[in-house]
Amino acid sequence: MPDVLGPYEGESLVGTAMRTKSARIEFWDAGVIAVEPDQPGDKDVIFSCAVHGDETAPIEIVRDMITDILADNLAVTHRTLFLIANPAAIVNGTRFIDVNMNRLFSGAHVQGDTPEHRRAAKLEQYVSRFFKQQRRYHYDLHTAIRDSAHEKFAVYPFTHGGPYKKEQLTFLAECGVDTILLNQAPTTTFSYYSVREHNADAFTVELGKVRPFGENDMSRFTDADTMFRKLISTSELDLPKFDSNRHHVYDVSRSIDRTAEDFRLNFADNVANFTEFELGHLLAVDGENEYTVEQPGERIIFPNAKVALGQRALLTVVPMPVENLKLV
Ligand SMILES: [Zn+2]
Repeated sequence: MPDVLGPYEGESLVGTAMRTKSARIEFWDAGVIAVEPDQPGDKDVIFSCAVHGDETAPIEIVRDMITDILADNLAVTHRTLFLIANPAAIVNGTRFIDVNMNRLFSGAHVQGDTPEHRRAAKLEQYVSRFFKQQRRYHYDLHTAIRDSAHEKFAVYPFTHGGPYKKEQLTFLAECGVDTILLNQAPTTTFSYYSVREHNADAFTVELGKVRPFGENDMSRFTDADTMFRKLISTSELDLPKFDSNRHHVYDVSRSIDRTAEDFRLNFADNVANFTEFELGHLLAVDGENEYTVEQPGERIIFPNAKVALGQRALLTVVPMPVENLKLV
């Protein structure tokens, strides 16, 4: 078996395939690797990483899974597609080359012609080509820019009124992802694309804070790594019974956009995601407008005062009792 993930000189694997003991490995494109087991189970599973090129830990998790598959140390029993979404940004060591790729799915890529627009269009095609069976899963793996009061959390894309799945909440909790952020509107993220276009169970999974390659403490990802491997290598996961006490659920309360040149956030740059402020606390000043905490338990997430005019500078979220969710 050649060392396909190590240094190689000039020889591209794109368009080629190779075998392990129990599967065919196809290299569809740079960073697009499909594993077709000889006797596939009934799940189709996608792991994507590097939609943001500097989010290194998920790349290392995916790299290690692929390495173990090629070395016959991980026997895959379900069809699996690995997507290393933005190789150019990884090489560049940046979040993206021209634009944030996670705003370009569900067709939004037609509105431009940057490397990210073109790649997002291709990634959609690969997802469409891959998903064949009824049971479809897509975990889009990220790390956050800042610290988080809940280190690991997942965005549950808009369900259009459909129920939330206990099995998926439990799977995520077993991965160490005990916090769920509900998205209450269509978006142009990769995970929402797979939900909407392919009826997959799909999530944007935030696994911790961004660090440079080699500086990630991989022990912090052990639970996620273990569950990802089990998902693709065992016929049926043996998950514990759903327990509502395991999950913190938040609903988006407000999206605060920057509309004025004179915009500032009234808290320190290093304040963690999911930090709670007192009722009445001034959060942001946008020109003449002041935004204060309006609801008990309201917390901030994804603050960025430097966004372009008209873009979202801050989200606030409020806790939602798990009992209030429509669950199946
Ligand atoms: Zn990200």
